[in-house]
Amino acid sequence: MPKRKNAESNFSIDTTIPTLGNAKIPSPISFCRFEDDEKGLSVFLDREFLEELGDEEPIPIRFESAGPRRHLFFDTSKTKCAIVTCGGLCPGINDVIRAIVMEAYHNYNVAGVMGIRYGLEGFIPKYGHEIVELTPDSVSNIHQFGGTVLGSSRGPQNPEDIVDALERMNVNCLFMIGGDGTMKAVKSIVAEITKRNLKIAVIGIPKTIDNDISFIPQSFGFETAVDKATEAISCAHTEAQGAMNGIGLVKLMGRESGFIAAQSTFSIKEVNFVLIPETRFELDGENGLLPALADRLKRRKHAVIVVAEGAGQHLMSTNKATDISGNPVLGDFTTLLKDRIKEYLSNVGMPYTLKYIDPSYIIRSVPANANDRIYCGLLGQSAVHAAMAGKTSMVVSKLMDRYVHIPLDLVTRKRRTLNIHSDYWRAVLESTGQSALRGMVPDNYCEL
Ligand code: ATP
Ligand code: MG
Repeated sequence: MPKRKNAESNFSIDTTIPTLGNAKIPSPISFCRFEDDEKGLSVFLDREFLEELGDEEPIPIRFESAGPRRHLFFDTSKTKCAIVTCGGLCPGINDVIRAIVMEAYHNYNVAGVMGIRYGLEGFIPKYGHEIVELTPDSVSNIHQFGGTVLGSSRGPQNPEDIVDALERMNVNCLFMIGGDGTMKAVKSIVAEITKRNLKIAVIGIPKTIDNDISFIPQSFGFETAVDKATEAISCAHTEAQGAMNGIGLVKLMGRESGFIAAQSTFSIKEVNFVLIPETRFELDGENGLLPALADRLKRRKHAVIVVAEGAGQHLMSTNKATDISGNPVLGDFTTLLKDRIKEYLSNVGMPYTLKYIDPSYIIRSVPANANDRIYCGLLGQSAVHAAMAGKTSMVVSKLMDRYVHIPLDLVTRKRRTLNIHSDYWRAVLESTGQSALRGMVPDNYCEL
């Protein structure tokens, strides 16, 4: 396995997937080409990945291919699976649930698939959530709906209690669909399973509408979210054009990473200013947003501003509050921005109208589009193949159009953020015409 020690972060890239033991049982699947653990996807991690790792030179790295194995760890007809969904909603969760159930039943003939209700709470008896039996019949239509049929929740639960529940239910394979927090929960559950020397496979299916999980270049639901976000931007543009000095302000998801804001801005080409958490823009001063906005209104009589949820936190007083899962509670930057626009434009004597659109809950809850459905289907199938072969403590992901296994440690290390040194961000800024704003590009951008 390629390994490389990183002097600064002491990080070595090890892509070995942990297993529960030897896979000796012939697979019941008889019609397919099997994948081999030795085969895989070899890539050179480029600068975008390397920045996450704090390294400088390209690193060759090989990821194990996802897909069915000729030999399995589990005797599948005696194997019980469970699925849990945690964190916020994202288009495609039901597609993943459906794919896991269909694959497990139809191709592996498993003994049963249980649905855990309302996230990690569903494991804990005191909450009284019933366990649901998931069958091909019960899941056949769920992909037509957004959200998660299992329900979700935030908030920590004791890994010991969760593993107690897995033992009580005789679960052999647990599939956990969720974001960064859920992947950390997978880690703690795997640690407890290992401590008890149990043979339970735990596979993560990374879900993040913000697209912010390391090593996952594009997470499922992201494309649908961008589609939906562009509709909101288009409406904001129409509203802005419909009034003298009309301003359309759209808030999109992106707590620490501005991917949805950037991608939908780049797609719709009507946005004049896009503010993301990764940039330390200013509101005032020669290169600040407010004078640039006034200038834009003077010239074109309308403007569209897209703000990612976590943008502008550097301009607000620090808030140390966290939600029940430990995520920081963000300051309300769009309210500050609206107030500052009002103040600035009144001071320069410029009448305006502002229409504010926050489509977040609509975007999160729509059903997945066609491409995301394909993606979710393959993730669900790949997760089942991996679990049956006895692989654990890993996630399934699409990387460069291939489906691969990624060790949990790699994806939980650091949150993925938009690289503002990238050609991509430069192109987004070019499409808005805002590259003159201070903070949108790093000071030494041209030397990089
Ligand atoms: P989203 O993309 O919506 O943020 P998420 O998976 O990050 O999804 P969280 O609410 O942060 O959502 O976490 C999901 C579950 O994982 C919660 O029940 C949370 O308590 C648990 N969790 C979060 N961090 C950890 C951790 N470090 N160890 C164990 N469990 C955790
Ligand atoms: Mg999260």
